[in-house]
Amino acid sequence: MDLKHQRVKLSDGHFIPVLGFGTYASAEAPMVKAEEATKLAIDAGFRRIDSAYIYDNEEEVGRAIRSKISDGIVKREDIFYTSKLWVTFLRPELVRPALEKSLKKLQLDYVDLYIIHFPAALKALEKCKDAGLVKSIGVSNFNRRQLEMILNKPGLKYKPVCNQVECHPYLNQSKLLDFCKSKDIVLVAYSALGSTRDKRWVDQSSPVLLDDPVLGALAKKHKRTPALIALRYQLQRGVVVLAKSCNEKRIKENMQVFEFQLASEDMKVLDGLNRNVRYFTLAL
Ligand code: NAP
Repeated sequence: MDLKHQRVKLSDGHFIPVLGFGTYASAEAPMVKAEEATKLAIDAGFRRIDSAYIYDNEEEVGRAIRSKISDGIVKREDIFYTSKLWVTFLRPELVRPALEKSLKKLQLDYVDLYIIHFPAALKALEKCKDAGLVKSIGVSNFNRRQLEMILNKPGLKYKPVCNQVECHPYLNQSKLLDFCKSKDIVLVAYSALGSTRDKRWVDQSSPVLLDDPVLGALAKKHKRTPALIALRYQLQRGVVVLAKSCNEKRIKENMQVFEFQLASEDMKVLDGLNRNVRYFTLAL
C-alpha cells in the first residue's frame, strides 16, 4: 500500500488519513495563503485538510480543493475534509444552517468530518449525518469526563469518531489516548509541532517545542528534522496527526514522516519529554 496515503478506520466505517494538513493561520497572514498552501499540500500528497468556520478561510480552502479536483489530481472521495461548528451555533436549530454556510463557502456537497465542542449540538448533527451533509461526527478539546458524558448520553445515535486535542511531546495526552483507544475514538493531534505560537493565545514564554535538544538529537540520529520526529512520534503511538505550514519546503518535508521509523527506545525518550505544557489556553 502507498504509505503516503495511510488511513485508519473510524468507528462508523469511514477512513481517516493519518496525516492531515492544518490550515489555520493568524490574521496577519493574507487570506490567499490558505488557498496556495492547500494546493501545495494536495500536490505534496496530503489528503486530509483541516479547517473550520471560524478560521475564515473555507472559501479559499474550498477553491483549492475544487481546483485540484477539476485538474484531475484528486477526486472528491480522495479528500477527507474536516470542518468545525463554532460556539455561536450550538443551539440545535442553528447547527444545520451553520454546516450549510460552510458547505456554501466551500462549494462542496458534504464534509467528511464535522467537529463539535459541546454535546448540545449533537442531536442536530446526527440529523445532518442522516441527510448526507456530513460523513462522520467528531468532538474537539474534550477531556475524559466530557467524553464519558457524551458516550453515556441517552439515545446517542452516532458516537464521536474522534477527539481533536492539543497533543505533542510536551503534552502527550497518554491517559486520554488510552481512554480514547478503549472507546474506539481516534485521537487527532493538533499543535503537534508546538503550535504557531500566535501571540493572542500562546504564552510567549512557553518553551519552543522544535528547539528541544532531545528532539534535535533524535533528528540528528535519524537524519531528519525535529518536526519530522514530532510527527512520527504521533503516528507510532496510534495518533492521527495534523501539521500546519504555509511554506512549500516544509509542506513537502512533512510528508517524509512516512519514510522512516523510530525505535522503541526513541519512543520512550520522547514519552519522557511530557511536561504538561499546553500552548492553547483558548481552543479554536
Ligand atoms: P502546528 O501544526 O503545531 O505547526 C506549528 C508551526 O510549525 C507552523 O506555524 C509552521 O510554520 C511550523 N512548521 C511546519 N512544518 C515544519 C517543519 N517541517 N519544520 C519546522 N517548522 C515547521 O500548528 P497549529 O496551527 O497549532 O496546529 C495545526 C492545525 O490544527 C491548525 O492549522 C488547525 O487546523 C488545527 N487546530 C485545531 C484546534 C482546535 O481547537 N480544534 C486548535 C488549534 C489548531 P510555517 O507555516 O512557517 O511552516
